[in-house]
Parts: sequence; C-alpha cells; structure tokens
Amino acid sequence: MTASEHLFESALRRIPGGVNSPVRAFRGVGGQPFFTKSAKGCRLTTVDGQEMIDYVGTWGPAILGHAPEPVVSAVREAATHGLSFGTPNPLEVEMAETICRLVPSVEKVRMVNSGTEATMSCVRLARGFTGRDKILKFEGCYHGHVDSLLVNAGSGALTHGTPDSAGVPVALARLTVAVPFNDLDAVRAAFAANPREFAAIIVEPVPANAGLYLPEPGFLEELEKLCRDSGTLLIFDEVMTGFRLARGGAQEVFGIRPDLTALGKVIGGGLPVGAFGGRTEIMGQLSPDGPVYQAGTLSGNPLALAAGLAQIRELERLDGWARLEESGARFETLAQEATRGLPCSFRRIGSMFCLYFCEGPVVRLSDAMRSDRAKFAKFFHRCLADGVYFAPSQFESGFLSLAHTDADIDESVRVVATALAGVF
Ligand SMILES: *Cc1c(COP(=O)(O)O)cnc(C)c1O
Repeated sequence: MTASEHLFESALRRIPGGVNSPVRAFRGVGGQPFFTKSAKGCRLTTVDGQEMIDYVGTWGPAILGHAPEPVVSAVREAATHGLSFGTPNPLEVEMAETICRLVPSVEKVRMVNSGTEATMSCVRLARGFTGRDKILKFEGCYHGHVDSLLVNAGSGALTHGTPDSAGVPVALARLTVAVPFNDLDAVRAAFAANPREFAAIIVEPVPANAGLYLPEPGFLEELEKLCRDSGTLLIFDEVMTGFRLARGGAQEVFGIRPDLTALGKVIGGGLPVGAFGGRTEIMGQLSPDGPVYQAGTLSGNPLALAAGLAQIRELERLDGWARLEESGARFETLAQEATRGLPCSFRRIGSMFCLYFCEGPVVRLSDAMRSDRAKFAKFFHRCLADGVYFAPSQFESGFLSLAHTDADIDESVRVVATALAGVF
C-alpha cells in the first residue's frame, strides 16, 4: 500500500469522503487522490515521493507557482509581529488601496476569508441596496457554496430555480433564476417575466467552473446595459479571474464596469482570503455605515494580507500578466498541434485553459456537457501516471503559473500527446 492509500484509508474514517472539498476526492475521474507532502514552483511532491508538474495551482491562487520566496518571507515576517489582532491593522489599508488601484470599478472594498463569503456578501448587499429579492445567474457558473447560488433552472429561462443541493430551502431557490450563458434572449425573457424584480445579475465574466468558455462579443456589454436600464446591480464574480486574467481582472479585459466585484484566490497568495467591493454608494450600505450586516473575526488577517500583497507586488514587478499571456499562447499552440484531427476542443484565455473531449464550439454548459467524460478520465490518469497533474474533473480550468518554464510546458505537452494517443 502506498503512503497516499494508507492516509486516504484513515481520512475516509474521519472526514466525509476523505476530503475537505469534494472535487479533491477524484470522483470525477475514479481512483483515489494522492496526498501532497510539499510544493515548490510548478511541482508537487507526493507523500510517496512522486514529482508532478501541477496545472491546478491550488485551484487558482498559485499564480507565481508554489511557495514563492517573496510570499513565504512576507508571511514569516508578518508572523513575528503577531498572528491576528482583532483591531484594524496597517496591511488592511494597503490591501484596500491596492485593490482599488488595480480593479477599475472598485471604490471601496471589504476583506473576507473565502470566495464564498465574497459572493454571499455581494448578494446580500445587492438585495439590501435594491430592496429586491430575486437574483439572475447563469447555468454552469459556480459562485461558491452560497445557498442562493447553488441553483440552476431545470428547464429554460423562465423556470424558477430548484436547489442543486439538499439543505437549500426551495423557497430560497425560487428567488434565483438561472439561464444559459451567452444567451441574451433568455436573459431578456427572464427580465420580462420578472419585471424590476432582480436585485442583481451575478456572473463569472469568463466561466471557469464548467471547464472554460468565453463570453461572446457584446454579451457582457448587454448585461451591463440591461442592469442599468432596470435598476439591477451587475455583480462580477472574479474570484477566479481577478488578478489572473489581467492586472484589473476580466473587467479590464472586456472593458465592463460592474457595480460589485467578488475576489478571492490570487489575492490570498495561497492563504484563505476573499474580498468584495464596488461603488461607494453601494458599499455605504454595509454595516457599520448602513443596514446590511457583514462581519468576520479573522477578516483582514495580517498573515493572509501579507501573503496577498507580496504576491500582487511580485506580479506587478515582473509584469506577470504579459508573461503569462506569452506562455499561455505557447502552450495553446503546442496543445492545438497535439490535438489536431482529434474530436477535442481546446479553450484558453491568458493563463487559464481547458481541453474538452468533444468538438467545438463550447460556449455554454450544455456544450460542455457533451464532453466525453470517460475519455477525460482515461486522459487524466495517463497524464498523472506520467507526472502531469491536471484537475481531476472535466469541469475545471487548468492554470499556468509564472513558475512553468518553456521546458516544463514542452515536457507536459509531450505527456499530453502520449496520453491522447492512448485515449483515441
Ligand atoms: C473558487 C470560486 C468561488 C468560491 O471561492 P472559495 O474560496 O472556494 O469559497 C467563487 N466563485 C468562483 C468563480 C470561483 O472560482
């Protein structure tokens, strides 16, 4: 028995499914997860000593690679001053100023401890600000495990939501309407059926939790306009895309000014951090200035903010986003060569990518669902056996980091090509 197998056997006895977040359990691909002993640069080392080139990057945060020296030493230094104060600390001001400087639409911001907390707080704030209860979301967009957002519409644009999860009250799910991404007719129909009833549209501007697909030209612009015209707030969930697609996230790339933005992942530098922010007028409704309650014992934690600030400083110093675009483009060219002639569809934007096992185009959840998941599982396990770790599910994005060198990418694409030859 390997050390990972032994640990997983013990984990299953005391942790539901053996994991603290479901996708880690490998249910999407079969088999058992490995346990990681350490991670450095673009490589993970398992408890059994196997080294892997990692394209999961702790699900997004590790944009510099794992354990980058400037981030590790910032955390070490911060720890010498205390682990948590429960009073305001200077790093909170620096982080707030940094986010407002980098993210175009954010005028005021509050720190939280996860992406889920950020989107949950955006939804509550939007409801409090507008005095409306309904939310419009898109099928296949994931916004954390927030009750109101674990919903998709069973059949079509006008159907009120049914919960995706046991434990979410139907009465609450009914307040969420889910429509297909990139389908403006469905959005308009939902607005017509619920006139001036939506507090907000919440959207991943680049949906990356059903694989990866992109907004069609004009789609986000039209959402912005529909919101303006109906007193609905536009919430961009940039937990994944923020500080990853560009300095100012997807809203910078697509030139959109959302009313509220949820952030997470990269701004934590690998520690548990989220944030949400937007227009001063809206943020002014938050407690203690306004009536919308929101709080957190560890929010603005000095270690977490030291890590996030160090990571963002390093990205700016290295012009990280331009470099990630270069390695992303290189990876794409090689991946397209490796998949030429195969019934596959490779999507990429910046340092995010996904390989679907179906022919394109993939522009919404129903397309992504056509992917042959048995083929994906075979592909995944072949890559893993050859030392390349992609996310253990078809419905996740891959991530490049600044630690992936050209040589790492070349080696990975060779493994991909061999794996594909075994699958088809
Ligand atoms: C990961 C993610 C979340 C949830 O963040 P957690 O830190 O896991 O709670 C929300 N929205 C998007 C788009 C995400 O990718």
